Amino acid sequence: MEIKQILLDENEISNAIEKIASELNGFYSGYQEVVLVSILKGSIVFTSDLMRKLKFPVGLDFMAASSYGDSTRTSGVVKINKDLDQPIAGKNVLLIEDIVDTGLTISYIRNLLASRSPKTLKICAFLDKPTRRQTELTIDFTGVRIPDKFVVGYGLDWNEKYRNLPYVAVLG
Ligand code: 5GP
Repeated sequence: MEIKQILLDENEISNAIEKIASELNGFYSGYQEVVLVSILKGSIVFTSDLMRKLKFPVGLDFMAASSYGDSTRTSGVVKINKDLDQPIAGKNVLLIEDIVDTGLTISYIRNLLASRSPKTLKICAFLDKPTRRQTELTIDFTGVRIPDKFVVGYGLDWNEKYRNLPYVAVLG
């Protein structure tokens, strides 16, 4: 497997971040606090770029889930490897995901967090592959819709490689 094509360069990524940040700043304007729940590990690059553009008060927590083994296709099985540090009951929670593919991972996490009675719960995803969806899911804030290709870079890996690439590339 190697880099075949650059799908989003640094400039396109930065434009997408500006767009999502401006939507979030509009939506959360006046909120006292929003807890950003970043899904490890892939979302850290997106989260760190995005949070610096947010103009409302934020908290930060992490969750780790895995639905992929070594392959490039989901198993459909979601395992929580790390739970939140803080309770979220009564809080405004924004889930931050790197990529939504079948939607199984984020749906599972959303349902889990919803059961803890947050005040509000929204989903923000940097990349979306809508043609692959296997579950009904509303993504409240989306960066870029991409075709059904396996991508790496900007936090996303293949077998733990390529997370450090500053661009999003198609692997093949
Ligand atoms: P889903 O449960 O929506 O099928 O998959 C979500 C997770 O699968 C993402 O958080 C990510 O870890 C992984 N994933 C889905 N598509 C891709 C992709 O194109 N590239 C990489 N590197 N990971 C992906």
